[in-house]
Amino acid sequence: MEIIFATHNDNKLREVQALMPSHVKLVSLKDLNFKEDIPETSGTIAGNAIQKVEFLKDRFDLPIFADDTGLLVDALNGEPGVYSARYAGEQKNSEDNIDLLLQKLTDNNNRAARFVTAIALNLNSCQTLFEGVCEGTILRERRGDKGFGYDPIFIPQGYDKSFAEMSLTEKGEISHRAKALLKLIDYLKEVK
Ligand code: IMP
Repeated sequence: MEIIFATHNDNKLREVQALMPSHVKLVSLKDLNFKEDIPETSGTIAGNAIQKVEFLKDRFDLPIFADDTGLLVDALNGEPGVYSARYAGEQKNSEDNIDLLLQKLTDNNNRAARFVTAIALNLNSCQTLFEGVCEGTILRERRGDKGFGYDPIFIPQGYDKSFAEMSLTEKGEISHRAKALLKLIDYLKEVK
């Protein structure tokens, strides 16, 4: 079964393909030579994943899924949330985003936060949403050099290492994205 994963990111594609059951072959937007901008203007993470799938579904004759992720910080009323990628500006720079977040949390002892990933799937004209959440806390300074995005300042609940101090396998066992993906994979296993 071929299914489109709405991403241009080769690393993400490899990571997700490795988790898929053997009868599922992922096709990326790069494989399809699709270069149009996909709107992500919804006010929620799930809304953005759905918006991407809605935008793409009639353009191709294959099932399709799209994901969206955000970091929600309690003390900032859920910021950066849907703005996680461009929190400090349209340059979408992770270092700037982390600096801004740490600055906004200066002197704040409420460090509770969570990553949320939503995956929207369009298959046989039916839309299904899968969600994964990883609870944790925001550090006062960066730790570790692995991973990407906000990983150096996020410690998942029950651990004493930041995501950026974990191997890909370690992070992959507990992450928001992995949890949402496993739900999608379980669903796809039923659809041969
Ligand atoms: P996207 O929806 O996967 O593009 O993620 C939006 C933004 O959230 C990214 O630009 C990253 O800054 C951040 N992000 C997503 N997933 C992770 C993660 O697993 N760790 C740290 N930051 C992440």
